[in-house]
Amino acid sequence: MSTKNKKIIIVSGLVLVFLIVLLIAIPSFVPSRTTTSKLSCRNQLLMLNNAVSKWAEAEAATNGTEITIEQVRPYFPGYVRGDVRCPDGGKYRLVVGQTPQCSLDGPLHSCPNAESPIRP
Ligand SMILES: [Zn+2]
Repeated sequence: MSTKNKKIIIVSGLVLVFLIVLLIAIPSFVPSRTTTSKLSCRNQLLMLNNAVSKWAEAEAATNGTEITIEQVRPYFPGYVRGDVRCPDGGKYRLVVGQTPQCSLDGPLHSCPNAESPIRP
């Protein structure tokens, strides 16, 4: 067997192993990506909750005042860039004195504080 043939066999073996690894790995990535995007809604609601509290304190706003994401944007953590929106297409509603709400239902689309309030 020539050296060229040995190289071809080794390369095809490596490609085959790579394809098998891909077939095993791809299905396990798909569900985790979905979970991450839904968790991201909860995380954004939690971040919005903190931003609304800081904005309301700075502006001396009264409870029940409905505000926009742009109004509270200066109070976002520095790592937040670009749009803040539900990854699944829900709309956020921000009202001073209430936890932020996503228009989609379910525990993954509600602010963590709303379900388990922090007790002193
Ligand atoms: Zn949502």
